[in-house]
Amino acid sequence: MLKFTPILLAILYGLVLYRFSVWRTGRELDQKSTELADPVLKRLTDQMAASLDLPRIKVHIYEIDPVNGLAAPDGRIFITRGFYRKYRNGEVSAEELASVIAHELGHVALGHSRRRMIDFSGQNALRTALAMILSRFVPFVGVYIAGFLTTLLAARLSRSDEYEADAYASALLVKSGIGTGPQKTLFTKLEDLTQSRGGSAPAWLMSHPKTAERIAAIEKNEERWSVSGQDA
Ligand SMILES: [Zn+2]
Repeated sequence: MLKFTPILLAILYGLVLYRFSVWRTGRELDQKSTELADPVLKRLTDQMAASLDLPRIKVHIYEIDPVNGLAAPDGRIFITRGFYRKYRNGEVSAEELASVIAHELGHVALGHSRRRMIDFSGQNALRTALAMILSRFVPFVGVYIAGFLTTLLAARLSRSDEYEADAYASALLVKSGIGTGPQKTLFTKLEDLTQSRGGSAPAWLMSHPKTAERIAAIEKNEERWSVSGQDA
């Protein structure tokens, strides 16, 4: 029993760290957010709400600068102030921002947002616990193995989630009469932005698969949907 005590302690420590991090993220979102109120965007989110038979889609502004969108585990959708600013100064269109909202809605609808919290908050906790355990068996390199395993797991989880959220967003955008055009142009815009800034990608792109592959996946869906549409 004594032999396993350190492992149990490491797991316990990881769990505590995870709970604390979830709590802190939730509190941070509460304190640093306001409801989005923009008439043009509201018209678009109302169109999407109608397609989903919802009274409305509530979106919040998260007061941070990095360009990002996120879905909280409680189902709330956030667009960062930095992203909203890009819309206000005309770099990103209302339809393009709506496509981000549709993508985040996809994460909520498909139940990813809880799992994604593991991406955001749990990654550190898991890495720490694994490092504590592995270091006992493989001194020095245990920490690196833990980091590698955690990153691998998170990447696998998030990659398939992103494609699913993209497909959900495409379907919703088509049904709402907005179309997938803005979804694709936004990816290209954000990537151009990355190049002009010398390689520092907006957070929203970094946590997602490659732009070209995402656009290709969207087009493949459209093709499939239009073929099955003709059959029906
Ligand atoms: Zn996503």
